[in-house]
Amino acid sequence: MSKSKSSESVKVVVRCRPMNEKERAAKFERVVSVDVKLGQIIVRNPREASASELPKVFTFDAVYDWNSKQIDLYDETFRPLVDSVLFGFNGTIFAYGQTGTGKTYTMEGVRNDPERRGVIPNSFEHIFTHISRSQNQQYLVRASYLEIYQEEIRDLLSKDQSRRLELRERPDTGVYVKDLSSFVTKSVREIEHVMNVGNQNRSVGATNMNEHSSRSHAIFVITVECSELGVDGENHIRVGKLNLVDLAGSERQTKTGAQGERLKEATKINLSLSALGNVISALVDGRSSHIPYRDSKLTRLLQDSLGGNARTVMVANIGPASYNVEETLTTLRYSNRAK
Ligand code: ADP
Ligand code: MG
Repeated sequence: MSKSKSSESVKVVVRCRPMNEKERAAKFERVVSVDVKLGQIIVRNPREASASELPKVFTFDAVYDWNSKQIDLYDETFRPLVDSVLFGFNGTIFAYGQTGTGKTYTMEGVRNDPERRGVIPNSFEHIFTHISRSQNQQYLVRASYLEIYQEEIRDLLSKDQSRRLELRERPDTGVYVKDLSSFVTKSVREIEHVMNVGNQNRSVGATNMNEHSSRSHAIFVITVECSELGVDGENHIRVGKLNLVDLAGSERQTKTGAQGERLKEATKINLSLSALGNVISALVDGRSSHIPYRDSKLTRLLQDSLGGNARTVMVANIGPASYNVEETLTTLRYSNRAK
């Protein structure tokens, strides 16, 4: 049977990172196997736990193991979405998962290494290569970069990093961030510069960058406007928007014994991630008439890029080792539900 239209517009893939030095040194057991052909992730119980339990099997649109190459993810999973943005549709790529599982590696990767750069720099290359080869179209590329932290929006490209921005809605253009800055970029170098400025601002005011990035969502937005002279002699403009989202860590922060401000913060993070899960699962389901976009800033902000003609890819990142098995299963259940 062919899949319904809605399920084609939302793809969920899983990527398992390699064991790191520490895990290898500690000889942690690997409990995750990846069946690339079948698109399956198999999780066994760690040896010390009840051995009678059967392995759990989850099926996705695609799965990537520890040897997966950034460029393969790009070509198979992200490129079609970015192509559709160049064609005037909206698209969103999310990296989901527990802190330390490879969200930032998947989104940004290792910047000065062409083999290990992630989807954001690869999309820069893709977009500007496409533009340089086009003959009858004029393109305008703009970039914005924002962060949602504690349900507050910060413009990562603004001079004033203490300012918080508001979401607004207009009948004609829909939901937008009031006063969000955006920069016209004419080359890979220029848009990389914008990303670097935003990344620097992101760490400003964060006493611990790791901790901060695990609690906030970073959204890099590329708007591609294309104008073309039609056969009718008129100029036609189409606009596509690409949202590249490095989500907050999905670990259940309320379980970590947080109190006071920390607990309040943790509750908000979990709320926006569960709102996102609800929106995606309602879209995938295809039968729901109500999509609960309004339940969080993140989903409201991305409303015009989730569902409808827009395409979405969710990359769920997991670790292979036994000590992460509970979080790994939680991530797989979340993403499975998104499917
Ligand atoms: P997160 O953003 O989810 O907290 P990171 O992307 O920072 O996680 O990844 C944690 C560490 O694991 C980093 O040192 C990163 O380079 C490494 N890593 C993650 N995924 C991979 C991968 N697929 N291949 C190689 N190294 C990876
Ligand atoms: Mg990260």
